[in-house]
Amino acid sequence: MSTPTYSGSCLCGQVRYEVSHITSTSHCHCSMCRKAHGAAFATYASVLKENHVFTAGAALVKTYRSSAQVTRSFCSACGSPLLWHSQGDFAAWVSFPLAALDTPYLPPRQKHIHVASRVPWFPIADDWPQASAD
Ligand SMILES: [Zn+2]
Ligand SMILES: [Zn+2]
Repeated sequence: MSTPTYSGSCLCGQVRYEVSHITSTSHCHCSMCRKAHGAAFATYASVLKENHVFTAGAALVKTYRSSAQVTRSFCSACGSPLLWHSQGDFAAWVSFPLAALDTPYLPPRQKHIHVASRVPWFPIADDWPQASAD
């Protein structure tokens, strides 16, 4: 059996990537993810770095260091978030916005993180696990 591969892309479609072996999915409510995505929270799924490959538009990918440990990558043509990467304990991993996948994927488990920073105008109405930090 071959490993399922999922394709993702940015809003303008110039940056494309493939991922496999998706492990965890988190809805992050921290203020930096909210601002980076312009949304109530950012939904990220994680893969080992070697399981994420840019297949088009890699030259358009720019990075922004949003904190001492964290780098966020985005498409310089359309601004779509592409990757979240942290140095330190999780340096072997990258996270990508699950909503940018073009291949259907249903996460087996989901959780909310950094809920202490969540916006007051969007209630969490599911029963997935919640953490005040990560
Ligand atoms: Zn783009
Ligand atoms: Zn966050």
